[in-house]
Amino acid sequence: MIQTIRGFRDILPEETPMWQKIETIAAEIFRNFGFQEIRIPIMEKTELFARSIGEATDIVEKEMYTFPDRKGDKLTLRPEATASIVRSYIQHKMYAADPVRKFYTVGPMFRRERPQKGRYRQFYQIDAEVFGIASPYIDAQLIQILNELFKRLGLSGLKAHINSLGCPECRPGFQKALLEFLSARKDVLCDNCLRRMEKNPLRTLDCKVPACRKALEGAPTTLNHLCPDCSTHFDTVQSTLKAQNVEFVVDNTLVRGLDYYSRTAFEILTTALGAQSAVAGGGRYDALVQELGGPQIPAIGFAIGFDRLVHIVEQLEQEKPKDGPDLFLVALGDKAMENCHLWLSQLNLSGLKAEMDYSGKSLKSLMKRADKRNARNVLIVGDEEIKTDALVLRNMETRTQTTISMDDPVAEITKLISNI
Ligand code: AMP
Repeated sequence: MIQTIRGFRDILPEETPMWQKIETIAAEIFRNFGFQEIRIPIMEKTELFARSIGEATDIVEKEMYTFPDRKGDKLTLRPEATASIVRSYIQHKMYAADPVRKFYTVGPMFRRERPQKGRYRQFYQIDAEVFGIASPYIDAQLIQILNELFKRLGLSGLKAHINSLGCPECRPGFQKALLEFLSARKDVLCDNCLRRMEKNPLRTLDCKVPACRKALEGAPTTLNHLCPDCSTHFDTVQSTLKAQNVEFVVDNTLVRGLDYYSRTAFEILTTALGAQSAVAGGGRYDALVQELGGPQIPAIGFAIGFDRLVHIVEQLEQEKPKDGPDLFLVALGDKAMENCHLWLSQLNLSGLKAEMDYSGKSLKSLMKRADKRNARNVLIVGDEEIKTDALVLRNMETRTQTTISMDDPVAEITKLISNI
């Protein structure tokens, strides 16, 4: 019997609804933030990836599916989407009328890595790219978009790691310091690192060989060598993330496995799949458009590991009780508690599976509890809602909200929920 190739897999009909759900939520967020969908080919000239991702990277050296076509042209199945989107942006002169463009795309990528849980040779990414904006606010906005998507999918415990890789102005100083550091440890570094030292010393920081990792402890960091402009840029990214309540840590070991990044680099890490792994990653690449033959236009983007995201969300769903309540009442304050309790009894007697929490905790923690109980709907009742006669009924599956009046909330809710 012929089976799938190692590292390739079918996504079966039982699984596709989750993929569709995530894609729909992502598309909605992208629309809100002004992104347009772009679809690019699965195959490109090898040169595009070699030049953009970098010759001395794991992806280009070891992982690309590259082969000659019948005429001998060297072709590659795309290992990522950024290079193709940049090519398309330049090829169609999309910058001509206005360099500011925001794109997203969803599709399969191909890397010949060692397959394991959450790692495939054909995997899928949800990818976003912004062209023409050099401002650090956009860096923060992209991380916020990731945060928002994960929040809407009910994920918690993810952490954004951010770093700055500097720019052509400050990179040489850092590289010099790093080279000095590496030269003093030549006898313990692996052959790969020794080779990379010559071509691109930054790559050595990415080495997975335990002896190299140990030798690299205390290596110079990009953050200690940033020029004033890069430093201000990174400060603004951080202060904006703080102001937007996006949790993050500065991680000066984060270098990412591709050459084109400059300034802000970020990854969203999770332990939900066992060992710590990244569910999304991205960064700024202000020089790439020009390097690939376009004008000098700054850009930044990210890619979400779609397969990993599906695994995590599925795992979460499995942990939730199958048979959650139809309605969870969130009572904020004494008056709300009294009202909710009376409505709850009527709702229960009318045959609706409704629950409430009497702990008097905050909105945030009650919403968490409603989510954990897998409630299909939540009624939010606080002093403000009572005063304005506008109770909020939220459908937890579609994330839509309806306003309910205090006249006869039990009847209104029963009607709405039984209709769902
Ligand atoms: P990268 O393009 O390497 O920055 O990857 C972005 C995201 O894609 C990662 O954070 C992973 O979640 C996902 N990813 C990368 N390689 C694979 C793979 N081989 N299998 C599954 N997901 C992957």
